[in-house]
Amino acid sequence: MTASMGTQDKRPVAPDEARGNTGGIAMTGWSTGPQTGCRREPACPPDSAIAVEPTSKARATVMAERVRRLEQEIRDCRLCESAFLSTATAHRPRPVPWLSSEAPILIAAQAPGVRVHRSGRPFTDPSGDRLRKWLGVGETEFYDRKKFAILPMAFCFPGTNDAGSDLPPPRICAATWRTRALAAMPRFRLIILVGGPALRWHLGDGVGTVTETVRDWRRFPPGIIPLPHPSWRNNAWIRRHSWFERELLPELAAQVASILGD
Ligand code: SF4
Repeated sequence: MTASMGTQDKRPVAPDEARGNTGGIAMTGWSTGPQTGCRREPACPPDSAIAVEPTSKARATVMAERVRRLEQEIRDCRLCESAFLSTATAHRPRPVPWLSSEAPILIAAQAPGVRVHRSGRPFTDPSGDRLRKWLGVGETEFYDRKKFAILPMAFCFPGTNDAGSDLPPPRICAATWRTRALAAMPRFRLIILVGGPALRWHLGDGVGTVTETVRDWRRFPPGIIPLPHPSWRNNAWIRRHSWFERELLPELAAQVASILGD
């Protein structure tokens, strides 16, 4: 799939910011340290009224519930219904979110293809097979939400044009959901940016072409890896740029293995 995006819904994330995923956990409400005493007696509230820091288990439960609710909201979204009905495929929205409150690795992807539209599960297609090979994981690990979250630039199959090519992700999807989704998820240890739209949204327009960005992968801080889309449409690109399989993919698989092995 290829795509181009305008500028209206971009939220460029500088590498340092993206590494820390400042769109990650919104800790508001959890940031108060433990109550260790009160110097304002007798104005102090009784012990039972003193707010205590939530346990990590309670925090995890709240985060999981936040993600579950957001995912349901996304599944119910029909913002693009009329736009999709006017494509050559004349389909209806079927959002395919795969969020996680626990995953240490984020796959920032592009948009579902028609096979994913049918299956309702991300990357159930040859692109997914290739991506898993690049990551060095099988399906069991890939679909384990304790390991991977998947956040595409659009949650629905955008349809095809008259020539049969997939349309770009509708911009309204990232504008509506992306910042909220990132804010609901944890601070990722590794963000894998897959394809031009995700590269531009996270890194900004100044990032250059996909080839330039991926070729310069070493200039990004640890925790960010840019990739081309794993579609068969990029077979020629992959053949032309042999350094990609020889140098970048081993590093990608090593980082994934290291994080999942911790
Ligand atoms: S692509 Fe995104 S904004 Fe459009 S209907 Fe699907 S979930 Fe909603």
